[in-house]
Amino acid sequence: MKVAPDLGQRLVKWKAVQIPFNSAGLSARQVAMVSKLVEATQYLEDAYWRQSDPEGLALYLRLANSTDPQDKQVRHYLLINGSRYDLLDGNKPFVGDEPYRPGRGYYPASLTRDQIEAYVKEHPDQKDEIYSPFTVVRQDGDKLQSSPYHVAFKSFMQPAAAALREAADLSDDHDFANFLRLRADALLSDDYYQSDLAWVDLKNPKVDVIMAPYEVYLDDLLGVKASYGPSVLIRNEEESRKLAIYEKYVADIQDALPLAPEDRPSKKGQTTPMEVIDAVFRGGDMRHGYQSVADNLPNDPRIHAEKGTKKLFFKNFMDARVNYVILPIAKVLMTPKQASKASGEGYLAGTIMHEICHGLGPAYSRMNGKQVDLREALGPAFSGLEEAKADVVGMFALGWLVEHGALPKDRLQEYYTSYLAGNFRTLRFGIGEAHGQAEMMEFNYHLEHGGFKHDATGRYYVDFAKLSESIASLAKILLEFEAKGDRAGTEAWFKKYDVMPQDLVDSLKKTSEVPVDVDPTFSFPDKIE
Ligand SMILES: [Zn+2]
Repeated sequence: MKVAPDLGQRLVKWKAVQIPFNSAGLSARQVAMVSKLVEATQYLEDAYWRQSDPEGLALYLRLANSTDPQDKQVRHYLLINGSRYDLLDGNKPFVGDEPYRPGRGYYPASLTRDQIEAYVKEHPDQKDEIYSPFTVVRQDGDKLQSSPYHVAFKSFMQPAAAALREAADLSDDHDFANFLRLRADALLSDDYYQSDLAWVDLKNPKVDVIMAPYEVYLDDLLGVKASYGPSVLIRNEEESRKLAIYEKYVADIQDALPLAPEDRPSKKGQTTPMEVIDAVFRGGDMRHGYQSVADNLPNDPRIHAEKGTKKLFFKNFMDARVNYVILPIAKVLMTPKQASKASGEGYLAGTIMHEICHGLGPAYSRMNGKQVDLREALGPAFSGLEEAKADVVGMFALGWLVEHGALPKDRLQEYYTSYLAGNFRTLRFGIGEAHGQAEMMEFNYHLEHGGFKHDATGRYYVDFAKLSESIASLAKILLEFEAKGDRAGTEAWFKKYDVMPQDLVDSLKKTSEVPVDVDPTFSFPDKIE
């Protein structure tokens, strides 16, 4: 077996962290319900491996009883990545010599995108099933056949649905029980619409789940197949209560944005479901790779139009990211005085406002008197611009809340230093995707305008007064790009600001000892089969 020779070094980049399940505040029935939800998660995890990397799964299982240290390392790294492909090495395999399969377990190994497109041209009646988010594609002679998830993964979906129904029977929350039963049906039909509606409508459930195939990141061939990504969530009462402050002012913040009134449609009377929760168990794409700290679901545009989305903030994972990654980076790169101001609270506030501000600003671009969809108007420049808008308008909004007495004045420095520290974390991953592009641009703009500075020793710090101005002017620029649908302007802007300064390249090298992310161990076993 060929194994990357530096596997040990790769493993230490993932900081092992315990993610405990604390049953305090839960009734005996709720605890029993949680274990049923964990069981459903374990079955979805099994299905996920078949989507992600069936051969990787076979290897993981084969090595289960090996006492060889290298085998143990391989197994551990398989678990971290959820496949033989190393996320930190551009998905190159760290074990074996089979190259990366962009179609993962979703499509026949040898099939290319061009071949699928050509096939669909000849068989237009099969297009919908082949491009469906919820089918796997198989080859049968010169025919392609697709099989719905609930058929292909029936042996996992049936027990998962049964576990959800048992959990429903244990729930004293009528709406949550109803949602669980609808979701059990959905796992067996691949039709998530009704259960997604019921999920978004839940009012502050004490226990919640993510229990569906939602994200398509795993599919590098067509980019359409969703992967299972379940999670069991316990409401963090204290932190959730604080969300009321943000919710109360969402409409006022929209009205205060530096934009023409016609470009900031009123948010009065709208509610945004938000929960701060602790994720006590994860499976599938929530379990492997980078550990997410916030989510905004479901992805079904019909639900967006009818209900909006639910915003979830995973407090325990956010704390782990802050403590093991962000604060250690801040210690290396920022002046000691400011590094000590950055905090989990500050990062949480910035993350909450980021997610809220995805929903603020223009709803459409205004072009020649017509409303044009933002994505359509801005093209490939949209993702980076939208992430930057959410960041910068989010920081603008925190400033506004402090100014209007909704948040304590002495918190602003914490928000700003946490913002800079969070920037460094993202920029370590480079500027290849939307978040990196956004934060590189923000960083350079604030540097140019004196909001971010570095001292004689090369350490960075925030000039608080200047950063407020720099945030306000940048927010206006980004919001106007969206309002005008100014694709050329946006592209030129990012081209100008998306170059990593040599100072920063050198500085980031000093953080090589800091972990890239956490590697969670839960109170419940992964139980992969
Ligand atoms: Zn975002």
